[in-house]
Amino acid sequence: MTVLMDRSAVVLSNHIAFEVDGRPYLYQGLSGVITQLDGLASKIIHAMKANQAIERQALYSSLSDLASPSELAEAIDELIQSGVLYVTGENKGPLMRTPPVPVSSKLPLATLVFHLVNSCNLGCSYCYAGSGEYGAPQKLMSRETAEDAIDFLLRESRQLEEVSVILFGGEPFLNWPQLKHIVEYGEREAGRCGKRISFSLTTNGTLLNDERIAFIRDHQIGVSVSMDGDEATQDKWRPLKSGAGSYRLVSANVRKLVAEKTGRPVAARVTLTRDFPHVRETLQHLRGLGFHEVGFAPVTETDEEMMLARPEMMRLLEQFAELADEFVAAAANNGFLGFSNLTNLLADLHSGQTKAYGCGAGLGFMAVSPSGELYLCHRFNEDSTVRMGDIYKGINRDFQQKLLSELHVDNKTTCSRCALVHSCAGGCYYEARERQGDILAPNLHYCNWMLRWTTIGLKTYVRLMEQNPDYLDRMIGSGACSSNNT
Ligand code: SF4
Ligand code: SF4
Repeated sequence: MTVLMDRSAVVLSNHIAFEVDGRPYLYQGLSGVITQLDGLASKIIHAMKANQAIERQALYSSLSDLASPSELAEAIDELIQSGVLYVTGENKGPLMRTPPVPVSSKLPLATLVFHLVNSCNLGCSYCYAGSGEYGAPQKLMSRETAEDAIDFLLRESRQLEEVSVILFGGEPFLNWPQLKHIVEYGEREAGRCGKRISFSLTTNGTLLNDERIAFIRDHQIGVSVSMDGDEATQDKWRPLKSGAGSYRLVSANVRKLVAEKTGRPVAARVTLTRDFPHVRETLQHLRGLGFHEVGFAPVTETDEEMMLARPEMMRLLEQFAELADEFVAAAANNGFLGFSNLTNLLADLHSGQTKAYGCGAGLGFMAVSPSGELYLCHRFNEDSTVRMGDIYKGINRDFQQKLLSELHVDNKTTCSRCALVHSCAGGCYYEARERQGDILAPNLHYCNWMLRWTTIGLKTYVRLMEQNPDYLDRMIGSGACSSNNT
């Protein structure tokens, strides 16, 4: 029964309203629900102001020329049931609540990033790690530390049946003996514990050779190559230490790697600097070399020569929107564009997962330095302010608990009303420190951009579900989409 003199008030918050071909939709960021609105629901939404409670009775009056109070009451009830609106004073009902701070002493470790070496053979102008050295003397991870770190991961993974290792540097192939040993030792020890272990590596691609490519194939290692695009761009930003260009070497190695059919998709990760060429050209160029997918990230470096300011970020958004259209056209015929920023966003929207943290760093994901110290993530290697313990004495659980409490999105007041509160959740801690001066701060410099990009993703999602509804399930299931936290 509908109560017509209901004095309760309803609230619309944390949402993005958008249209696809003139049809109105709403994304509710607390629950992750995407709803197509009928005519009356759309009018109700338009009559409301974000984050402002409005009495039902006031809505009935303001919309009385559109529908009767009972029709309006029914439509509002439906919006509450579907998680679009919530009633003030009540809990948020079908809207999901933010996951709480986990008890860190029970948190299993699922992924460990191995810093095999604190050095690199490239001299990239924008390198956040100071040519791979992270401000520390050059170090190579020893065989003993590598074994201890694997043992530590298997032990700390507790009840998990599967763990993953990311082989990282500097340039990880500068410590090839230990890279090999970690994989072989890890496979053996995981097998003894009855667990599955998988490996992936991030490389600059210069040191790949036949032996290493065969090893990658034999051990089904996922590979991500940091490569910025065509010869001019790559050679400008990613030269060898000598100053010579790296394009010819890297592109030849990538062609050999993909020709080997290693069993796992090979991805390119592009760092965008201020004068970046059109991302479509870069995507096509790198796909032409054989990369399965290509992801783009603006440089974190705040040097004005390199950093993307607002005009460049808007140019990037326009280019991403063009690629989104091309993505849908390809997907309608079961094609794959290989644009991983979008595939990852679509996978997140599709999963409807709610997050309380910007990423998994410090939760089930940490990095280990060449000498066995644990850090929040690979980008904080050798940073004593976020040292999480070491592989010998274990994770510092008190510090972890304190840090996770502080990093929780509930502490980020600006985020609490944002549609991306459970997807961005404040964003990357490293970026926050670089741009906001504090790892605990939300990444307010990119909110507007993120909201626009997510809206492009939402429109793409709806169009995809209309044209090829099984596509995302197949893409995610096949591993073509490689959303991760790194
Ligand atoms: S950082 Fe910005 S975009 Fe991200 S959740 Fe917070 S307010 Fe939203
Ligand atoms: S998102 Fe940022 S903080 Fe999280 S793992 Fe990646 S670099 Fe580290």
